[in-house]
Amino acid sequence: MNSHPECLFCKIVTRAAPAQIIYHDEWVTAFRDIHPAAPVHVLIVPNRHVTGLNELGEAGADLAARLLLAAADVARREGVHESGYRVIINTGADSGQIVLHLHLHLIGGQHMRYPIG
Ligand code: 5GP
Ligand code: ZN
Repeated sequence: MNSHPECLFCKIVTRAAPAQIIYHDEWVTAFRDIHPAAPVHVLIVPNRHVTGLNELGEAGADLAARLLLAAADVARREGVHESGYRVIINTGADSGQIVLHLHLHLIGGQHMRYPIG
């Protein structure tokens, strides 16, 4: 696994930094967002360092599928699979991406307006 020593989410994946991890497998790790925007707010990240969606590339196709499948699985575990949820990937400055390690926000547990922005 390529881990970046200064990357916060790499540290969470390797347990070098604390987090409430709720799911982990060979590909991905899911943990609760430290500042939840809704009753359910989970971050799902690849175990290997990928800066963002722009860096995923063709070689990341399997990983992309794993991230999405994990999101649906976490939604089921969190009890929002039927009520509904939203999956967001912030990419770059305009989106407000702060942490430069690819992550899916899984948000649910309340009614959400759309569009956002
Ligand atoms: P971004 O804006 O990069 O898409 O989202 C980064 C997310 O990471 C934010 O929702 C923020 O609350 C969350 N976050 C930042 N630092 C930590 C941390 O140390 N632990 C956890 N669990 N979440 C964090
Ligand atoms: Zn990283």
